[in-house]
Formats: sequence, structure tokens, C-alpha cells
Amino acid sequence: MAATYPDAINDPIFELIAEASASLELESYVIGGYVRDYFLERDTAKDIDIVTIGSGIALAKKVSALLPAKPKVSVFKTYGTAMLKTGDLELEFVGARRESYSKDSRNPAVEDGSLTDDQNRRDFTINALALSLNKKNYGDLLDPFGGMKDLKNRIIRTPLDPDTTYSDDPLRMLRAIRFSTQLGFHIEEESLQAITRNASRIEIISKERIVDEINKILMAEKPSHGFALLHKTGLLPFIFPELVALQGIEEKEGQRHKDNFWHTLEVVDNIAKATDNLWLRWAALLHDIGKAPTKRFDEEIGWTFHAHEFVGSKMVYKLFKRLKMPLNEHMKFVQKMVLMSSRPIVLATDVTDSAVRRLIFDAGDHVDELMTLCEADITTKNPNKQRKYKSNFKLVRKKIEEVEERDHIRNFQPPVSGEEIMDTFGIKPSREIGIIKDAIKEAILEGEIPNEYEAARSFMLKKGKEIGLSVSASED
Ligand code: ATP
Ligand code: MG
Repeated sequence: MAATYPDAINDPIFELIAEASASLELESYVIGGYVRDYFLERDTAKDIDIVTIGSGIALAKKVSALLPAKPKVSVFKTYGTAMLKTGDLELEFVGARRESYSKDSRNPAVEDGSLTDDQNRRDFTINALALSLNKKNYGDLLDPFGGMKDLKNRIIRTPLDPDTTYSDDPLRMLRAIRFSTQLGFHIEEESLQAITRNASRIEIISKERIVDEINKILMAEKPSHGFALLHKTGLLPFIFPELVALQGIEEKEGQRHKDNFWHTLEVVDNIAKATDNLWLRWAALLHDIGKAPTKRFDEEIGWTFHAHEFVGSKMVYKLFKRLKMPLNEHMKFVQKMVLMSSRPIVLATDVTDSAVRRLIFDAGDHVDELMTLCEADITTKNPNKQRKYKSNFKLVRKKIEEVEERDHIRNFQPPVSGEEIMDTFGIKPSREIGIIKDAIKEAILEGEIPNEYEAARSFMLKKGKEIGLSVSASED
């Protein structure tokens, strides 16, 4: 007798789908992520996949008709799927189908099929689990590939031959690694080998799809798990050659530098503990990419990575562009974090007020994130150093708070405007105005004057005199 789990689908929405299905004399099942996550006792997905033997589109329309709100049904004719939203749920309907693939596309030719055909086309055994929504066996589990056993043993395995599965749709290689990272599952050895053999097939996958999976890996609890697998299977060079270039340790004249690839992965894991900000996690991933092209050996000082932060921030742009990621404020944020990633480190040894003011001025609203990145960057295995660096950064954070409270540098607005400078000296827009404004800003950052109007005004008068301006008659 089949195992049965009516409790998994006792939400009224499932009963309504079952009613719609029965009225159309269809056979329908819940399948995929929802079922998997129910058994894993994960927060079950808000997207629910329904497969029906027949027309998924017709079923979706019937479900909508039975719902009081009559939600809009979005139909994707080419894929034979339909989607609707109700409450915070997203229901996706598909007719059971059989797929056949050609070499150069991940979009298969499809024809109608049985439930088994449909389970065969699923990527992993744990994603092929189906629960019946039919009267005769409501809640019965249909598990033709031992998905429950794999769930229990925490294994990622393909229903059919892994080489065919990954070659047919190479996105599945990334999905395997992503699920392994999200769920802490082990990718079964044959799958791992098949991924390694098929790694170059990833080139037929769109960049957007790849980035979706990378983002999910980055948002996992321990992203390094995924990046280590990308590395091990040979997928990494197709996605992040910049990271591959960081790998390895060189020794010259007895001097070694650290392996910046594995260091980076540690930093990403560290930052994952501190923040859910995806873009800060991206910054951690990319913070050292400038180190490969800037690496030099200097007879006097050993290994150097001069200006790697600047070079790295330029590389961020190219990398985002190559991966077709939007070149928007998120990218600028990542660039800024990479560019500034060493600034607080210098500070940690010598915390002066003026250096702190400059840091706040340059980092603007992102000074907290920058500190979080720098704290995550501490990967020394020496417990004394570890403790020392951490307490230094604590000091820097405290200092930032004190200085900010006193001097309000964070959203610095010049206390004296360009207009006031022009009126005071009776001059038109000119280079002198810039000179005076800069001098005022510098004086504030250096702590020569407080960030206040009166002080800035007298400083302006003094500075104007110095460069040969005189106060205009109308001002007197
Ligand atoms: P999550 O929503 O958490 O990412 P999921 O398993 O629900 O996980 P979806 O992308 O929502 O993933 O896909 C729903 C189901 O569709 C999967 O469980 C799987 O059965 C099937 N599926 C999705 N993508 C593929 C693919 N590339 N190849 C084969 N089956 C797939
Ligand atoms: Mg899903």
C-alpha cells in the first residue's frame, strides 16, 4: 500500500484544486519543491507546482473560477503552463509531459505524457515526489525513484542517467549544487562525476539563469559549500574565471602569500553569519579579485598586491556586465565596498579622529556595511591575532559612532553654499568657489574647524583673503 500523507495537503487551497480537477475529470498531483520542503520540515515554498494528466491551462482556469477573487491566470502557451496567485501563494499548473532534448538547447520538444513520464523529466529524485489530489487516493505519495530514501539520507540524485540529465539541461548542474548548498545535501558520486564531465555544457545556459542560482548559493547559510563544488566540478572557470585566478600559493625566497581563493570563501561564510544583504555577500565574494592581476614579488617587502582594491572595483563592472547583471546602484555598492575594503584595516592600527572622519565621509551611508565586510575579512588562524583584530575593529566602530555623533559627517553637506561664497565675494561661478569649498571640507575632515556654519563662514572669509578675494560692498 502506498504511504499516504493527507496532512501535507490539508490546506483548503488543495481541496479546491482537487475539486476543480475532479469536475474536469482530470487526475492531478502536487509535485516538486512543495512536497520536498514539507517532508524536510522546511518553511514550505510559497510556489506550489501542480501537475495534471491533461491540460494544466484548463485546470488553472477552473481553479480561478472557483476562487472568490477570480485571480488572473497567466498562460505560457509555449510551455503549456499556467500560473495564478492567491493570497501569498503562487500556483503553477502544468500538463504531464514527456520531453526530448536536442544538443544545443535546454528547451525540449514536449508531448503529452503520463505522471511517470512527468516524474522522469524532473531533475532530482527529491524533486519528483508527488502527492495525489484525487478522490480515490487523496494524499498518497507517488515516489517511483526512492526520493523519500534520498531525503532521509540527504542525497541529491537524478531519476535517470545523470549524464543524460545534465547534458539535456545543464542548468541542472547548478541546481544540484544549489540544492546541496541550501539543504546541506550530498551530491551522489555518479552525479558529481557527470557534472564534471558535462561542465562546459553550462555555456548554453543564459547568464540570468546562472546568476539566479549563484544568488541562491550566496544566500545559503554556508555559501562556501557551493563555491567549493563549483570549483571541484570545473564549473567555476565558466562563471568566475576571476576567482579561479585567485587560487594557489606561490613561494619565493621563502616567502608565501595566502591562497586567496580559499580565503575568499571563508570571508563569504563569515559575512553570511553577519548579514542577509545579498550585495554585501557579493562584495565579500569579489573583494579580493584584484589580487590576481596585481600580484608582484618585491625583493624588499615580499608579495604585494598594490592597488588591488582599485583594480578589483573596475573588475566588478566587467564581471557584472559579462553576467548580464544590472549595472545599477547594487553594482556601484559592490564596487564601493571592494574599493574601500582595506581602509578600516589601516585604521585599526592607528585610530585618529581625522582618519575616522575621512572614512565616514568616503563610505557615506555604507560605513556599517564596510565594517561588516572588514570584520568578515579576518580569517587568521592565530587566536591571538584574531582577538586583537576583532577588538581593534570594535574600537573603530565605537570611534565611528563618537565622531559621527559629534561631527555629523555621514551625509556631509557643505555648511557654506557656493551661492553664499559668490555673494560674499561678489564673484560669478568660477574656479575659486571650488577651491574655497574644498578647503572648508578639508578643514572639517582634518578637525581644524567643527562642521558648523559660523566656523565655516569665518574660515571661508580667511581662505578668500588668502587667494586674493575681497568681501563685496553689498555684504558689508
Ligand atoms: P525552489 O522553489 O526552492 O527553488 P523547487 O524544487 O520548487 O525549489 P522550482 O524551480 O520551483 O524548484 O521548480 C519546481 C519543480 O520543477 C522542481 O521541484 C522540479 O521537479 C522541476 N524542475 C525545475 N527546474 C527543473 C529543471 N531544470 N529540470 C528538471 N526539472 C526541473
Ligand atoms: Mg519552487
